[in-house]
Amino acid sequence: MSQPKSVGLPTMLVRGLFRRCAHCGGRGAFFTGWFARAERCKTCGFKWERDLVGFQLGAAAMNIIMTGGAVLATMGIGVIVTYPEVPTWPLIAIVGSVALLVGIGGFPTSYTVWLAVDVRMHPLEPEELADAAAHANAQTQAQ
Ligand SMILES: [Zn+2]
Repeated sequence: MSQPKSVGLPTMLVRGLFRRCAHCGGRGAFFTGWFARAERCKTCGFKWERDLVGFQLGAAAMNIIMTGGAVLATMGIGVIVTYPEVPTWPLIAIVGSVALLVGIGGFPTSYTVWLAVDVRMHPLEPEELADAAAHANAQTQAQ
C-alpha cells in the first residue's frame, strides 16, 4: 500500500471528529468498541498510540476541553434563552446531562482528535511510516 498523502491540520481535525485515522482517513480506524481500542489503524497500519510521552494525557485533556466547551455552550444558551427567569435546577440537570453525554459519548472522538493534533505536532518518523506500511501489507496479505 502506498503512503497516504500528507494533509493539513484542518483536514486531520475533521478526520478526528468523524473518528477516522488522522494519517490516512481510514474509517473506524482505531476502535473495536466504544472504549476498546485496536493497536493499529485497520487501513494504513499506523501504530496510533505512539511512544511519545503524554499521549494519554493529551487525549484526556481533549475530552475535558470538548466536555467543558459543550457545558459552557449549553449553559450560555440556556441563560440567554430564558433570561431573566433562568430556571436554575432544570438548567443544571440539562447541563449535567450534556456533560455526561459528551464526556462518555465523546471518548473515542477525543482520542482521534488528539491524534490529529499529535501527528501535526510530531509528524510521523520514517521508521513509523515503514512500520505502518509493513503492517498494512501484512493485513492485506492475511485477507
Ligand atoms: Zn490510518
